[in-house]
Amino acid sequence: MIPLSLPGHDRTGSRHREEAVSEAIAFPKSPLAGLRDPRLVRQFSYVGGRWVAAASGETIAVTDPATGDFLGEVTSLSAEESALAADAAAAAFPGWAGALPQERGRLLRRWHELILENREDLARLMVLEQGKPISEARGEIDYAASFVDYYAEEAKRPNIESVTSHLPDAEMEVWLEPVGVAALITPWNFPSAMLTRKAAAALAAGCTVVAHPSHETPFSALALAELAERAGVPAGAFNVVTGSARIVVEPWLSDPRVRALSFTGSTEIGRHLYRRCGDTVKRIVMELGGHAPFLLFADADLDRAVDEAVKAKFATSGQDCLGANRFLVERPVYAEFCERFAAQARVLSVDAGMKDPDIGPLTNEKAVRKQEEHVADALARGARCLAGGGRHEKGPLFFAPTVLVDVPADALILREETFGPVAAIAPFDTEAEALARANDSEYGLIAYLHTRDPRRIYRLSRALQYGMVAVNRTKVTGAPIPFGGMKQSGIGREGARHGMQAFMDIKYVCRDWA
Ligand code: NAP
Repeated sequence: MIPLSLPGHDRTGSRHREEAVSEAIAFPKSPLAGLRDPRLVRQFSYVGGRWVAAASGETIAVTDPATGDFLGEVTSLSAEESALAADAAAAAFPGWAGALPQERGRLLRRWHELILENREDLARLMVLEQGKPISEARGEIDYAASFVDYYAEEAKRPNIESVTSHLPDAEMEVWLEPVGVAALITPWNFPSAMLTRKAAAALAAGCTVVAHPSHETPFSALALAELAERAGVPAGAFNVVTGSARIVVEPWLSDPRVRALSFTGSTEIGRHLYRRCGDTVKRIVMELGGHAPFLLFADADLDRAVDEAVKAKFATSGQDCLGANRFLVERPVYAEFCERFAAQARVLSVDAGMKDPDIGPLTNEKAVRKQEEHVADALARGARCLAGGGRHEKGPLFFAPTVLVDVPADALILREETFGPVAAIAPFDTEAEALARANDSEYGLIAYLHTRDPRRIYRLSRALQYGMVAVNRTKVTGAPIPFGGMKQSGIGREGARHGMQAFMDIKYVCRDWA
């Protein structure tokens, strides 16, 4: 029995209230009502296997970034109510950790199937709250599901190792054990995949989970919780808490039962959480900012480099931690690359995500202002604009795909992440100069390299201080790879077997067998 009660919302009461709302279609005037399965639209938090509302009645409104229209609202829990999610996860931990790994794998497999069965609804939900083009949203659902699939398998694989003894009469083993409750904090730009990448790994390892999705995109996470419930994930193993991040995450930071924290978001918030986790010495995984360099050498296949550059900059409307932010191009091909890249940028379509354009709206006004600031600063320092340059007529949160060339090294856009559809290009003359400029950053998530020279590929792949290096291509991610950054881009890795490491402790046992 999970010891959870929220003031004023007894188990049956709150659940029935939510079901009544869902059956009547949660927000009948909202585009959310058009989903094939409107029960995927949940407005309460999922805590201890129940859909619970804040006793205060407080909610957070969610709007469509393409139109500004109200989509719906989610409950905003208090710190005390969020602490109950950690209670639920802690209570569920022994049962989940003690379940056969095959059983955890079976439930994850079912969750994966349900995500794919509901792919279209989940993608549409994501477009409505996040804004990305529907094709990209479908791709993200596949990507999100792939982590659940991968960790359904990986759940069975953490092995016991025996050690060749160095002590007389001793027998040694190394075990891997789940750490306890894991807190997961996810951003708005990949609202489904960032959650499954963390949650599937933690659940496979035997941890139970408390998750906080961004207030910009809570519906995607709540829909995943609904599907986890349908898959049979036991009450308390997977909890999703909506509300103000500062309020609901706080009790988890000081809770010693929360043994791991996995965060994807800005470096600024990452630093704050890192400091706070020190008090209880939590295991940490952090996927932070990117500010990726794109190095193009004159010997590269220019046709390919231009196509890959467009993907590296404009996918996810530029709101991607893997987005190329600094194009450094060797001088002999500089002018041609700038022209051809700008020509492609000028014809990118900009529209609401449901129309499946190349570029959707940005997430909020703050993001649009950052694009304006970076463009104005670069122009003031002598850069030239070859495409776009400002807001787009489609609406207040749309920004035209923009290409700035001759951007000086001290421009803001070459110093900090833009997180939007503005590309900055500058020439270089030597490999040493390109490498020094690429590494001259506090960030180290991904670097893109375009060259045909195999020796240069090897040299630079070694020398670039980045957790990931993409050579002559853009798409590199997927469930089987260790995703993550060096320097202040993060700590730890997600995906692959490495993605389970922060959720497991190593226990060494030494037995006397004499
Ligand atoms: P953010 O402001 O750092 O928010 C990320 C998450 O942290 C959200 O769930 C947010 O909740 C929560 N949060 C905010 N303040 C918090 C606090 N004081 N305590 C606890 N949680 C807090 O970043 P964002 O604007 O959503 O995302 C953009 C940034 O994330 C970019 O810098 C990007 O590079 C980075 N990112 C990195 C990766 C990667 O894998 N490396 C992937 C995607 C994004 P609320 O939204 O509810 O405030």
